[in-house]
Amino acid sequence: MKQSTELDFSEFPPGSVTEYSTLVCLACIFDIFTKQIGLAPRSAYSEIKRYTPSIEELTSPKAVRPFFDSEEKHPHCPYCDAAKRWHARLDTHCIEGGKTTDAPRRKLFKTLQKKSEQFATIEQKSDRRTAFFNWLDTLRLSLDLDEPGWLLDAVKAFLERKEPKQDWTSVFDGLHAVRPSSRLGDGWEREGARLYLAPALYNEALLVQYLVSRSHVHGGLTLEGRLTLPELLRRMRKGGYLSAHGIEAADQFELFEKLIDEVAGSGALKFYYVVDRREFIEKVKSVYSAYA
Ligand SMILES: [Zn+2]
Repeated sequence: MKQSTELDFSEFPPGSVTEYSTLVCLACIFDIFTKQIGLAPRSAYSEIKRYTPSIEELTSPKAVRPFFDSEEKHPHCPYCDAAKRWHARLDTHCIEGGKTTDAPRRKLFKTLQKKSEQFATIEQKSDRRTAFFNWLDTLRLSLDLDEPGWLLDAVKAFLERKEPKQDWTSVFDGLHAVRPSSRLGDGWEREGARLYLAPALYNEALLVQYLVSRSHVHGGLTLEGRLTLPELLRRMRKGGYLSAHGIEAADQFELFEKLIDEVAGSGALKFYYVVDRREFIEKVKSVYSAYA
């Protein structure tokens, strides 16, 4: 019954929680603590049980020993070849701090306080720009950029982030197209199978699509087709986006940076990490009993 032990993040707005998962090899950890650091197995065991990896180790796209990533059903440790019973999965959830997540986060953390051995919580100072790029990375992984449907999915994800209170799943139900509408000063309107966005909002959605796809093989694909950076910027200028937001810049790169700041938002925020240590502790115990 794995389901009942899962943490519940359903009260958080879409896009505000990022999941990371990594495998750790306990044979490697025991090796480090006993051979390299020189601890007796008993002391190594109690040290390892208390150990919580760093945010970097838990979330890095490139795992280093004793961490590794594998999609295989029965993976072997890439460093020491240890079999599955030596591996523990560490799942980490990162909650973006802010008005819309404060209440559900406090509620969740209250339940976790009683289980501080199983769940580690870590706060990290950051800023909106970093949060925006983390969100983009996660979004990119969730989209299939080879399927044309991703363009609408990206608009939906962007609107969910921008206006988390709206039920965008019903707005996008049966939707065929997203278009700009100069009739709208701001916001959006659905008509039949089409969603009309105010020009500024539409251009922001294009910027998000550009950022999601610029490193993909097609590069910079948007609802307006493939756009180069100068074309995207020209569009923003022509649509009055730059003047409306008071954006001026000496060159296109500075302009691009300022546009990203406008869409990402600026200022500090905090990340709140929840590290699920349950499998780790369980495996450390079983591995130690084999050691002792
Ligand atoms: Zn190993």
